[in-house]
Amino acid sequence: MSAIVESSTAGSFDEPAPSALLLLGQGRDLFSERGVECIGALPAASDPDLVERARGARAALGERAFILGHHYQRDEIIQFADVSGDSFKLARDAAARPDAEFIIFCGVHFMAESADILTSDRQRVILPDLAAGCSMADMAAINQVEDAWDVLTDAGVADKTIPVTYMNSTAAIKAFTGRHGGTVCTSSNAEVAMRWAFDQVGGRDGTGKVLFLPDQHLGRNTAVLSLGLSLDECVVFDPHRPDGGLSREQLTAARVILWRGHCSVHGRFSARNVSDIRERVPGVRVLVHPECKHEVVTAADEVGSTEYIVRALAAAEPGSAWAIGTELNLVRRLAAKNPDKTVHYLDSTVCFCSTMNRIDLPHLVWVMESLVEGHVVNQIVVDPDEAHWARVALDQMLALPGY
Ligand code: SF4
Repeated sequence: MSAIVESSTAGSFDEPAPSALLLLGQGRDLFSERGVECIGALPAASDPDLVERARGARAALGERAFILGHHYQRDEIIQFADVSGDSFKLARDAAARPDAEFIIFCGVHFMAESADILTSDRQRVILPDLAAGCSMADMAAINQVEDAWDVLTDAGVADKTIPVTYMNSTAAIKAFTGRHGGTVCTSSNAEVAMRWAFDQVGGRDGTGKVLFLPDQHLGRNTAVLSLGLSLDECVVFDPHRPDGGLSREQLTAARVILWRGHCSVHGRFSARNVSDIRERVPGVRVLVHPECKHEVVTAADEVGSTEYIVRALAAAEPGSAWAIGTELNLVRRLAAKNPDKTVHYLDSTVCFCSTMNRIDLPHLVWVMESLVEGHVVNQIVVDPDEAHWARVALDQMLALPGY
């Protein structure tokens, strides 16, 4: 079972019923990263007093609340964040604040789940808009992944396979990974995680395999560019095709089985974007996130996680020109924080994380004012058994070298 949410002052949680695919932000499908609605009277976005209301509610909550803002959030949210960062940094920041009664997570659903897993039972994690999901996390549903494991079992390769799941996955997928002896990884430590996984099953030159969930691009870029495997040693498991679209021979020969998932933001960048910016801006350095396609990453000058991108820009030579392939809110802030460098956006059109951007000032004001009035809204609660096994996989990541 996946995370459930609470939007009332009552002590028990409603058990949501799974439903068909819903339009973003409408209806109720609490087992999904998308298609859920926020119940509540949000202030109007046009309310001229919104910022003042946010300041007032923030001051009233004081130390009882800790507000986390993901790097991809809007500026109107980041101004109220006590700390900003990538998803794992924020989950750890939340765990480091055991005295905060409310963790207001301005990110997406899987991030709030991870924060709930890593914080104490006494703390309540709140997602200001329940429709703030992640399209990538939604591409690996737990029933699909369990069916895939059955396919690997029937092909005789499951006992030689270790699952590695990206942080950007649901708690259910992290729990699956923990149950099967695997680990969570981030975009910063995917290489270490994949090497560790191969070591559990006889090394990467043997018959051992990694099932990499849910981002095929991070998995492929790590396997090929960091571990030196060939593209032919990576196969893609498509959950929408019988047996993942793979034969027994392909599964037997593969070293890395990539899940057919991707980020709808980073997946937009193309090799053409890279050649275009090089033509327009001679000498530009192209820096992209590893969730980008393999051809984009190989055409770029540097590849790195969100935190790497932030550090690289800060350390860059004054006067240097950069084209950044990641979410636009972050790129805009990097440009503002680095006025001595020229920062270009790699895509020619805007590219926000649309679900992350659902969290706006009206939602933040609504949750904070509700808390001030004693109403806990939009609480994210992970099922205890799921939380236990997800924690096993998260703890395995923390035990990897480098943490
Ligand atoms: S940027 Fe991509 S991976 Fe990150 S939350 Fe948005 S859709 Fe998910």
